[in-house]
Amino acid sequence: MTSPQTSPQGTADTVTRFAPSPTGLLHLGHAYSAWYAWQAARCGGGRALLRIEDIDTTRCRTEFEATIAEDLAWLGLDWDGPVWRQSDRFDVYRAALAELDGRGLLYPCFCTRKEIREEIARAGSAPHPGADAADGPVYPGTCRRLPAVERQARLAAGEPHVLRLDMAAAVAAAVAAAGPLTWQDAQAGLQTARPEASGDIVLAGKEVPASYHLCVVVDDAAQGVTRVTRGLDLFTASHVHRLLYALFGWPVPLWDHHRLVTDAAGKRLAKRSDAVAIRTLRAQGLAPAEVWRLAGVDAPPRPIA
Ligand code: GLU
Repeated sequence: MTSPQTSPQGTADTVTRFAPSPTGLLHLGHAYSAWYAWQAARCGGGRALLRIEDIDTTRCRTEFEATIAEDLAWLGLDWDGPVWRQSDRFDVYRAALAELDGRGLLYPCFCTRKEIREEIARAGSAPHPGADAADGPVYPGTCRRLPAVERQARLAAGEPHVLRLDMAAAVAAAVAAAGPLTWQDAQAGLQTARPEASGDIVLAGKEVPASYHLCVVVDDAAQGVTRVTRGLDLFTASHVHRLLYALFGWPVPLWDHHRLVTDAAGKRLAKRSDAVAIRTLRAQGLAPAEVWRLAGVDAPPRPIA
């Protein structure tokens, strides 16, 4: 299905993690990502962790979590230490948000998606994200410019809102504290972070108390992850994450963005690719080795005894 990529090489100090969101079945793309994290750590005697990113309780299901764990075991992947679950850690994320808020780097945003689309259209900018934006259309900053009295009145009235990072202020604070926001990618080499391209990203949602960007950085730092492996589709997100590491003053990991598994036509697998779900392939009678071949993995794990 996909051409193989050279195996990642870690050392005894390497700590990686596979961090799936239990919003659906594990498919070949996830299996590749899981293997990549596992291999990068285990090939050199390092540690590979499993973390369930179930912060979005509106979309995550415990049934999927159980299926993911079982499919990973069937594929021969095992993990070090206890499995972390983001839904256990709301207090930690709240504390991280409070820290940024205390430094004046967050602001409440009351805009609906529709209002944001309309504002972008009015401003004449492209209605689709720039290639470098992590979260889709770049927010035009409407609520950043709200007069303080209006902001207070709307908060006091309990108007639903998200919390956004004031990107310009955050970059200025981070650069002042830590210098240029450079980072190393194991594949692409030295990078200079461009979080500005993503605009004022959401760090806490209306229904979800903390966003992916915040939780993933807080947890990777808390778990001592030294090599953040993830698909190339999240490359722009890593630019934002580099900024968050600088804001919190945490040691910066090595990032390692791996290729994405594609279908026979060369198209990236969709989020809901049940046709290539590990469940489906198992039901068709495939063995783990055949599934790994389909994912383009050249050094699959030995089956767990
Ligand atoms: N939880 C994220 C996802 O399933 C990936 C985590 C990460 O590597 O940043 O897409």
